[in-house]
Amino acid sequence: MFLFFVLLSIFSRPPSFAQDISGETVFRAYQHTYPGLVSGLSFQKGDWTVRAGNETWYWAGGRLLPSSLRGEEEHWSAHHFELYPETVPSPEDYSSRFIESLRDSGGAEARLSRDDQHRGFQAVLYGGLTRREIESNIVRMNFLGKSINVHRTITENLKRIDGEIRKIAAGTNATAAGAAETAAFIASIGQIGGYNWREIRGSRRLSYHRWGLAVDIQPADTGGKAVYWLWEQRRNSLWMLIPPERRWQPPSGVIRAFENEGFFWGGKWHLFDNMHFEYRPELHEIKRLMAAPGLVIQGENRPGRPDLQEGQDLHHIFPNRTAPPPRPRKGRPAPRGR
Ligand SMILES: [Zn+2]
Repeated sequence: MFLFFVLLSIFSRPPSFAQDISGETVFRAYQHTYPGLVSGLSFQKGDWTVRAGNETWYWAGGRLLPSSLRGEEEHWSAHHFELYPETVPSPEDYSSRFIESLRDSGGAEARLSRDDQHRGFQAVLYGGLTRREIESNIVRMNFLGKSINVHRTITENLKRIDGEIRKIAAGTNATAAGAAETAAFIASIGQIGGYNWREIRGSRRLSYHRWGLAVDIQPADTGGKAVYWLWEQRRNSLWMLIPPERRWQPPSGVIRAFENEGFFWGGKWHLFDNMHFEYRPELHEIKRLMAAPGLVIQGENRPGRPDLQEGQDLHHIFPNRTAPPPRPRKGRPAPRGR
């Protein structure tokens, strides 16, 4: 039986190279998380493709290019997809080489030298790239007592997160501890930022605030704790070694409420941004697809922030893996991984 499924999984998939497999995983994740927009995953002319916005998109080594740009891959840099860590990386585990690489990736020169990614695929997902297009999708809503501007696609998620956090604070959520801590957290919020037409400071990379898909929850008083690596960098060259307990952070129930709705918390980046939550459901799904014991990335020699590192994709993270474990489906036993 087991052998049968191993053979099935080998012969039922198109010829695969490591790079194509990461393309398959990423596109599968997009299909799952944007079902109305991304569909038709298929292997064509030696590459993984999906349909989105009346266009066929090629994986193109992580570049996500429309079919019209086939063969022009070298003009574009790859997008980065990383597995969301379970816990905050521990600076105690950083090697001196890794500390150097974090210092380098945080340097002004490194941030300005990044080259361009093709953003057409994101434009389909998020409804445009120009300020006019993006702002046509921005709506105003109330969140944790503040009025914020965000992309219309995340308003329902934020409403559920708001409800969940208030339930924890009121102590009516039987599964969550920390009612008092969460109530104090809500009361301590100074401001909440959402949509903001800007780039990541000092970088040519785009911030998800630019799409209205990121939310910053800033405390009125940080209690002397670190919040954002870029602010710390000005006074402390070893900002990356600030232990997690000396960084301000929302209660764990708050972080979990965001994560359960497809958000990524910036406190788990090596370049920590503890007030930042970003809507990236595809990253959670990629992790689920790649799920296998011991494969969660933590404190390794790579910066934890996808927009501030050089060309890495899942192939580089999993050089020895030849195929991701297929997702279990109803009515048919899942083949075993490996
Ligand atoms: Zn932010």
